[in-house]
Amino acid sequence: MGKDLKYVEFPVGIDKNCLDNCCYELDRSTDILTITSEGNFYNFPTERAPDIVNSLGLKRINVVKKVTLLLAFSPIFIFPFLLYFRQTLGEFYWPFTITLFLGGIMFFLISLDLFDIESYYKISKCKKCNRDFAYEEIKKPLVKKISTYDDYEETETRYFKCKYCNDEDLKIKSLLKSSKSRKRRSPKKGKTCKGCGRRFTLIEYRYPDTYLESFDTRRTIRHYKCKNCEYIEISMKDEAVSTD
Ligand SMILES: [Zn+2]
Ligand SMILES: [Zn+2]
Repeated sequence: MGKDLKYVEFPVGIDKNCLDNCCYELDRSTDILTITSEGNFYNFPTERAPDIVNSLGLKRINVVKKVTLLLAFSPIFIFPFLLYFRQTLGEFYWPFTITLFLGGIMFFLISLDLFDIESYYKISKCKKCNRDFAYEEIKKPLVKKISTYDDYEETETRYFKCKYCNDEDLKIKSLLKSSKSRKRRSPKKGKTCKGCGRRFTLIEYRYPDTYLESFDTRRTIRHYKCKNCEYIEISMKDEAVSTD
C-alpha cells in the first residue's frame, strides 16, 4: 500500500529548505535537523459545549462520561451470557445481540463527546480574567520536530487569545519522543553526490529516524552527507502501517 519517497536537498551554503508546507532546517555543526509545519485547528464542539456545561455542570459531565464509557464496554461482558442462553432466548437472540452492540457504540460516542467538551472547557478557560470558553485559537498551531543524535522530539505549539480580555497564551504539548539516530560507525557504500557529482561519496552517516507520522503511516528519515563537498540530503519514506 501507499509508499512514498521524497528527498530534501541542502546544497553547499543552504541550510533551510521549504517544501509542501514543511520547512527543513539543518544545523551543520551539530547535525540537528528541525522540521516545522502547520497543524490543524482544534475541532471542538464550540457551539454546544457552553450550553451543556451550563446545564449539566462539570461534575455531572465527569460522572456521565465515566458511566457511559463503562456502558460502552459492557457488551464485552454481557455477550458471553447471551451466547450461553442462546437456546433459551431463541428468536430473541439476534435482536438482543444487535441492540447490545449498537448501544455500546452509542455510549462510546457520547463518552467521546463528553471528553471533548471537558478538554475544551479546560483549554479555553482564561488564565487572566478567569472566564469560561474565552480562549480562541488565533492562528494554526506550529508543529516542530527536532532530530538529534540522542533524541527525536515533537512538540505542538498552539496560540490562544481571550475574546474578553485579549490575554494571549501559548500551549506547548510534547507529542512523542522516540527513535534515536546515532552516528553510524561503518557507513554503508555511498551513492553518487548530487552536489559535486562524485561517485560513492554520499554516505548515510547516521541511523534513520523512524516514527509514526499519523496513526496509519510510519515515516523513515534517512540522513546523507557528502564526504567530498558539503552537500547534505535527507530522504523521507512513508509506509502504511500494516494492521495484520
Ligand atoms: Zn480573559
Ligand atoms: Zn559532494
